[in-house]
Amino acid sequence: MTVRVRYAPSPTGDPHVGNIRSALFNWLYARHTGGTFIVRIEDTDQARMVPGSVETILDALRWLGLDWDEGPGSDTPHGPYVQSERLDLYTEHAERLITEGKAYYCYCTPERLDAVRKERQKARQPTGYDRRCREPEGAEQAQEENPNPPVVRFKMPVEGSLTVNDFVRGEVTFDVSLLDDFVLLKSDGYPTYHLANVVDDHLMEITHVMRAEEWLPSAPRHRLLYEAFGYEMPVLVHLPLILGPDRSKLSKRHGAASVLEFRDMGYLPDALVNFLALLGWSLDETSEVFTKDELVEHFTPERIVASPAVFNIEKLDWFNGLYIRGMSDDALADALVPWLEDEEHGLPGNTLPVDRDYLASIVPLERERLKRLSEAPEMLSFFFEERLTYDASLLVPKGLDADGARGALEAALATAEGADDWSVAALEASYRALAEASGIKTGQLFGAIRVAVTGRTAAPPLFDTLSVLGRERCVSRLRAALEAL
Ligand code: GLU
Repeated sequence: MTVRVRYAPSPTGDPHVGNIRSALFNWLYARHTGGTFIVRIEDTDQARMVPGSVETILDALRWLGLDWDEGPGSDTPHGPYVQSERLDLYTEHAERLITEGKAYYCYCTPERLDAVRKERQKARQPTGYDRRCREPEGAEQAQEENPNPPVVRFKMPVEGSLTVNDFVRGEVTFDVSLLDDFVLLKSDGYPTYHLANVVDDHLMEITHVMRAEEWLPSAPRHRLLYEAFGYEMPVLVHLPLILGPDRSKLSKRHGAASVLEFRDMGYLPDALVNFLALLGWSLDETSEVFTKDELVEHFTPERIVASPAVFNIEKLDWFNGLYIRGMSDDALADALVPWLEDEEHGLPGNTLPVDRDYLASIVPLERERLKRLSEAPEMLSFFFEERLTYDASLLVPKGLDADGARGALEAALATAEGADDWSVAALEASYRALAEASGIKTGQLFGAIRVAVTGRTAAPPLFDTLSVLGRERCVSRLRAALEAL
């Protein structure tokens, strides 16, 4: 059997991380087995559609490198892959169930349904539909009250229990009396999720349905639908809930955002993939760091757990730092260029375009401190700025007065001008010698130089910084500092 799995998003907004976790697990399983990964757009709830969200969802998949074999626009036999382009199929299926006596037209108005719900609530009964139209007399009466097109409802068993098999949880049993005759086809001619999902999973020959646990309550309905059509049911694999660290429902409050927001915050796609893969899956008790290829190699549904996964943004930051440190100087420099050149949040215009080789020499100094690519403009700006702006009082180290600081910086300038070797080791040797000869404490001398050449009190190691900045920049910055003093 060739594995065929699908990611079936509804285009109701930006793809949330929890939702993309489903995409990732399906993709991993397809790639692990040499199967097929399908993207199907479930746009049957017209009221909840958000224009543009199909493209955003596909962009998120592309950014994460989750390529699909079949999906919107692909010219493969199981298409089209957008449900609103498949309406005839759902109508046919609903009509077939009516003909076979397994479904019926319901004419009840929304007002009546509402009244029934309220009444049942008062009587402490399950609030589902009271099945008036399931009997011909009821349907006739309802039809007289409502000239609008009917919906189609599925005839559920009235009592008993129903068991479905979930790959992760084993047998799960549902009380049928809590499940009403649910709608298959709405009065606007669109199918409900249940009908379209079952019909498409069958027609697209889906072998495994991997989706979030919140869809588990739909499983008994789906099981009966498969039986009614005489279709074989795919294997169900429900992925555990994702909670915030406080064990409440995951939300923005926990730093969870749409996938593209993570991109815009400066996370690396591979770091996010690694992080998401561990939300409900693990290889063993200890391994955490996996490249995408390693995930493909190891991913099996046997290692998916039923207990909720905890979304911890600090863990994602940790992964991101790790992946940043794992990049070569050149790769990281390339990745940083767009952030530094960004019109809104990047470096000042007069420093652009970024000198790519200079940037590659800066990267080793800042890599350790960089957690998100978006931090780069602020963190690296002093390397690029023509004139640094800082408070001149910072140039005066503790224990010295302005004259003392001026003396220290004048000596530092002379040393810079006279140096013929600008390597880290030579700089360190000559500035330590200067401190000794002049009697200024190294802490004071180095502190004043640091502020003069970086404009900051905290920066990467001083002599590496001087070396990367180059003599010309250092000399002119020391002069500017003396002027400022
Ligand atoms: N359209 C559903 C969603 O948005 C799909 C659920 C499923 O995979 O069956 O998550």
